[in-house]
Amino acid sequence: MILPMIKYIESAGVSIEYGQKVVNVEFDFVPASATKAAKKVARAIVVQHDGIEDRIPLTKNDQVYITNGGCVENATWGSQNTVAKVDPQIRPGGGWDMWRRIAAQAPDGSFGNPDVLCSDPEQSNWMSATVDTADPEILSAIQRICRHDPLSGRVVTGGIVTARDSRWLLSWTVNRQPQFKTQPDGHVLVWVYALFTDKGGDFIKKPMRECTGVEICEE
Ligand SMILES: Cc1cc2nc3c(=O)[nH]c(=O)nc-3n(C[C@H](O)[C@H](O)[C@H](O)COP(=O)(O)OP(=O)(O)OC[C@H]3O[C@@H](n4cnc5c(N)ncnc54)[C@H](O)[C@@H]3O)c2cc1C
Repeated sequence: MILPMIKYIESAGVSIEYGQKVVNVEFDFVPASATKAAKKVARAIVVQHDGIEDRIPLTKNDQVYITNGGCVENATWGSQNTVAKVDPQIRPGGGWDMWRRIAAQAPDGSFGNPDVLCSDPEQSNWMSATVDTADPEILSAIQRICRHDPLSGRVVTGGIVTARDSRWLLSWTVNRQPQFKTQPDGHVLVWVYALFTDKGGDFIKKPMRECTGVEICEE
């Protein structure tokens, strides 16, 4: 979806600036008057690039869309045979630190409190993995559960299926296949995720955060 969208918007004259880190969006606070409700208006975007900080002033005709608080920021990666190592350090994060600076501007707390969500990774962590399979036994189990042929190119699970009794609290979903242009015929990608990454599994007796891709697949 992303590549055609980039092509489309670039051909319509949109300029995409890469390598820019938004460190803050500055707001003006307009108090309520007898006739108008209070307003918060974005005044400027503060960006860093190549070690330089710039301020992009905004007009009242500009629209600003902010992706704050991403659930994959500072993620670590594993692979088939390696574990995605948990990093116990709380490191600076682009979107979260930006949100903190934005939130600090609203004395009434109306921009939310990002620290509720990002200050204790033990409370908010999760893990995901992508399984690539052409195993007929797994494909027919998928078909039995969701009553759609996973190789039909149409909707498969239609949503996320949760294995409610799983100690890891695993869920899985299969989107329309193929997901990638280079995906071989007959292969299905299953996206799985778990919310209890610190608990031993039902089959692999280790916590998911200590598992390689192979072990996650086995679970
Ligand atoms: C493992 C995984 C698999 C998924 N699979 C699917 C799927 O198969 N199908 C599906 O429909 N959805 C899937 N999703 C969900 C989908 O990816 C997200 O819903 C979607 O990407 C959210 O888009 P977004 O633009 O809101 O945020 P994001 O894609 O998170 O984009 C936010 C962007 O902002 C950038 N950014 C953050 N802070 C700053 C800053 N301060 N300055 C500059 N840039 C900044 C980030 O680097 C990032 O590029 C999946 C998600 C995950 C994590």
